[in-house]
Amino acid sequence: MNCPHCGVDIDNHPASHCLNVWLASLLDMRLNDFSRNIAAAWEVVDKFQSADIEREFGGNTIIFIEVAGIGWFSAHAPSTSLAISRVAIKACKGE
Ligand SMILES: [Zn+2]
Repeated sequence: MNCPHCGVDIDNHPASHCLNVWLASLLDMRLNDFSRNIAAAWEVVDKFQSADIEREFGGNTIIFIEVAGIGWFSAHAPSTSLAISRVAIKACKGE
């Protein structure tokens, strides 16, 4: 799945303004720096049924979130806020 603004695949998308815009529109949230600000990212997590976090060998964070009635989605990234942003978009899209 590619970003509608810059065309980069979600699993490689950097923490950036267009990722924040994409996420805000999918979740119908006020625009915030979700991909770089951990407090804003946790507000995204609150939109979902439940969440789990793991640390990968090498330093990446893996985030799992559950969409009620659908199932679990995951994404990993060098920062927790970016991993949350990536997984939330995947969960909203059901991919
Ligand atoms: Zn983008």
